Amino acid sequence: MWKLLGWQPSELQLGQFQQLQDELRSWNARLNLTRLVEGDDFWIAQVFDSLWPLVSLLKAAPPVHMIDVGTGGGFPGLALAIALPQARLTLVDSVQRKIEAVRAMATTLGLAQRMEFCGERAEKLGQDPAWRQRFDWAMARAVAPAPVVAEYLVPLLRPGGRALLYRGQWSPPDREQLNRATRSLNARVEAVEALDLPAGRGLRHAVSLVPVAGCPHQYPRAVGIPAKQPLGG
Ligand code: SAH
Repeated sequence: MWKLLGWQPSELQLGQFQQLQDELRSWNARLNLTRLVEGDDFWIAQVFDSLWPLVSLLKAAPPVHMIDVGTGGGFPGLALAIALPQARLTLVDSVQRKIEAVRAMATTLGLAQRMEFCGERAEKLGQDPAWRQRFDWAMARAVAPAPVVAEYLVPLLRPGGRALLYRGQWSPPDREQLNRATRSLNARVEAVEALDLPAGRGLRHAVSLVPVAGCPHQYPRAVGIPAKQPLGG
């Protein structure tokens, strides 16, 4: 699996991934965080899937500040925190008890001192000057349709930052709608990468967005509006 990924964790990092799996098992007994905890479900559908779009970053290891919006049980955020020891990671989820579980896991793994946790809606953070235009990378996996996620992520990017949308299926109409949405946000689609996950876990796409100018101040719109009236729709 690591050979295919093109990046190898250190002994410490491998131990942290194993510890993360143990933590997920025990938190799952209390809180329904994820059903992907055993074997390939964990190593391929969670860890590998979180890391593959950023493999060049894993090799270069720059000191970036990243935000994972809708982290749920901690993916991709916790996997990235392990794999990028020089990065700062901010994990956001609107469900406070998920954020508390993820914070507890990060503390056990010794990652919490370079992480931040926030139980808030992405639409609120995107309008908060303390959060807006602050991040080198903003990402989300399995949170909402791509144009909705774009509206959550783009306002958080500093100039020159990147948004990363983890997608499953990806079609030309998806691309057209996202192109229209990003135009409203003063951003554009930079690249779309495809990968067939090992162990028959299916096709994944990684869509990266780059701001071309400051995001118009009306975005993100009020809580719930991006999902109800997706941009570019
Ligand atoms: N990223 C994780 C979890 C996906 S489930 C994974 O890939 O496994 C989607 C999560 O996004 C849920 O935990 C939900 O609470 C959160 N979420 C959905 N809309 C949100 C919003 N507008 N702001 C913050 N979190 C949101």
